[in-house]
Amino acid sequence: MELTTEFMKELKETLIERTMSFPLNRQFSPRLIKPDTWAILPYNPSPDTPSIHLVIGQEKALVIDPTDTPYDVRTYIRENITDKPLVVANTHSHGDHTYANYLFDDCTIYMSEKCQAALRRQRQNPGMRSRSRLLTHQSVNDGTVVRPGDVIDLGGRVLEVLGCEPCHDESSILFWDRTAGILFTGDEIDPGQCNLWNAPLEVFYDNIKNLIALRDGDPGFDMICAPHNGTPINAKALDYYKENCERVFSGIEGDVDKGSVSYLLNPFEPRGPETVEYRRFDPVTRRSMWMGTAINYNVDLLYRRQLDEPHRIAYTGPKQAEAAAKKDK
Ligand SMILES: [Zn+2]
Repeated sequence: MELTTEFMKELKETLIERTMSFPLNRQFSPRLIKPDTWAILPYNPSPDTPSIHLVIGQEKALVIDPTDTPYDVRTYIRENITDKPLVVANTHSHGDHTYANYLFDDCTIYMSEKCQAALRRQRQNPGMRSRSRLLTHQSVNDGTVVRPGDVIDLGGRVLEVLGCEPCHDESSILFWDRTAGILFTGDEIDPGQCNLWNAPLEVFYDNIKNLIALRDGDPGFDMICAPHNGTPINAKALDYYKENCERVFSGIEGDVDKGSVSYLLNPFEPRGPETVEYRRFDPVTRRSMWMGTAINYNVDLLYRRQLDEPHRIAYTGPKQAEAAAKKDK
């Protein structure tokens, strides 16, 4: 059996299309993860599909990252979970978190300034979407910019916007539910693997230490909701992320093979085999695993100071590597 990228893409879209013809309450797997707090997984054969989080206050409910589901998550929430007025927040601009914003165009959609700028660019360049024939909508909501320290008050439940020195994406912000003790991280934390690309490991390490200080404060948090690869996780995991970094700093090098169940060994991985092969064995990147945490980091960039020294660049695929090689010449 030949599992070509084209075949798997068609199979995936056919399965999703079939699901779209089922009643709405069969299209999602909802889980209560704390009182009035839901993780909602849209059906998708790909195991790295992001979950939508729903945080319900006394007056309003907050949808964190509507994701790229083609199903009507707004109607699903109203009919099955809450009919409170909705507001939305994006953790960062990536399409797999923001595509379904269009369902909430008449709501307030909180996002960082960089996220707003990135979504504006996407709107002006429709060629950037079309990853799937099922994703045909475009949000026209320009977003409401929030900054670190701002709060979102849902009535008796307050979330604070946190900044970080981003590793996953420059538009990232985090949301700290001070009332229920939950941290919503977007992709800055991913239980499958944190991809640091070309951010020094030290940056990630400092972020984790800041989050540990916050976790252990009053109020703190005891739960982390990261959209991909299994939400929620216990906030204790931050200690293991910290230890994972310290192991690398002490000289324990991670694995050259970055293969993981969640995305590189996923038969529904949308990237072509060449790109997957490149990402998996990119000579610059290592995968360090420790106590259920995994960090993919650039072996030349453990410390910030190394940015000023000669270092190799980790790329997402052979095309980028080729382009960089040309630029170097
Ligand atoms: Zn992302």
